[in-house]
Amino acid sequence: MVTFGFRVTPWEVEGVVDYDKLLEEFGASKISDELLERIKHLVGDVHTLLRRRIFYAHRDLDLILDDYEEGRGFFLYTGIAPSRSSMHLGHIVPFILTKWLQEKFKVNAYLMIPDEEKFLAKKTEDLRQVDELVDKTILDIIALGFDPDSTFIFKDREFIRNLYTAAVVVARRINYSLAKAVFGFNGETSIGLIFYPALQIVPTLFEKKRCLIPYGIDQDPYFRVQRDLAPKLGYFKTAGIMSIFIPGLEGVRSKMSASKPETAIFLSDSPEEAARKVMEAFTGGQPTVREQREKGGNPDICCVFQWFKILFEDVDEKLLERYHRCVSGELLCGECKVDLAERVKRFLREHQRKVLKAEEVKDKFLYTGKLAEKMWNWEFKY
Ligand code: SF4
Repeated sequence: MVTFGFRVTPWEVEGVVDYDKLLEEFGASKISDELLERIKHLVGDVHTLLRRRIFYAHRDLDLILDDYEEGRGFFLYTGIAPSRSSMHLGHIVPFILTKWLQEKFKVNAYLMIPDEEKFLAKKTEDLRQVDELVDKTILDIIALGFDPDSTFIFKDREFIRNLYTAAVVVARRINYSLAKAVFGFNGETSIGLIFYPALQIVPTLFEKKRCLIPYGIDQDPYFRVQRDLAPKLGYFKTAGIMSIFIPGLEGVRSKMSASKPETAIFLSDSPEEAARKVMEAFTGGQPTVREQREKGGNPDICCVFQWFKILFEDVDEKLLERYHRCVSGELLCGECKVDLAERVKRFLREHQRKVLKAEEVKDKFLYTGKLAEKMWNWEFKY
């Protein structure tokens, strides 16, 4: 748990986050230009989420690249815990990068659906509500384009027989004082949530290779604990690349949140509903057209610009052009929001079409694909 006028735990983010302070506290490093150059050299390209520092920090990414270069390989792991609604655009960011890394480095990806976490964290009242969302979440993930033979998607409560031995071994090594200090548990915390971090650590031990996890920086506490105990079990400390929080529509300092539907665009929103939300987004524009023309806007505090930067404008030159047109007053917010709304609508139409197709291949990811079959026979070696 971190508090500096803001509070960050895996279940709560309160206040305005200072990302540099977080890094200092967590002991991670910024992703350097040299690391991005190495990635480009190895796979010919660098994803915009890395290039634009949406994923801005890392641990041991250099060692991952060494492992790849020297033929030892690595594997990927990420996940999402369903709670009260379907996935929103902020949720897909780690999955987009994971899919890109899988494709470029040709490695296995393990995608965890903790269908107990949010219930134990009291973020939802009804476990059946979680169950209703799980299948939808899985289809949304598949629709992002993962390879069915090198991706395994698992639900904790279904895969628990395979996870449990490793979770017990991991849990034995985490004492309550450490868990309380790292996760901010208190007298109101359910005992289920106190055990849960052991389960989230287990997938980092699925292979005897280094694991790379793309995640939102609020998830870091789990993996700091993993790095403490993995070598004692004969496994690698996990590596990670961490993203900033994806801003909601209320302002760049707000986090897109499933519990505040107006701040988020859900993958299940109709394209028209999503466009309506975009048109109401907070911008960095001036109160009147005349002032905008005279003084220009401020893209640095504008949600609309940030969304172009994160998900909806791949071409750097075009993003830069939008930036300059905004600050010079040439571009008006109305026009800019219409552009974004059109892109969001196009994305959602395409995504929702792919979700219908995902149903046909779902079993491969969960049970019958090459990696899935192997994992249903996985046993923890310790
Ligand atoms: Fe934001 Fe576009 Fe308005 Fe500039 S013109 S403040 S980028 S909405």
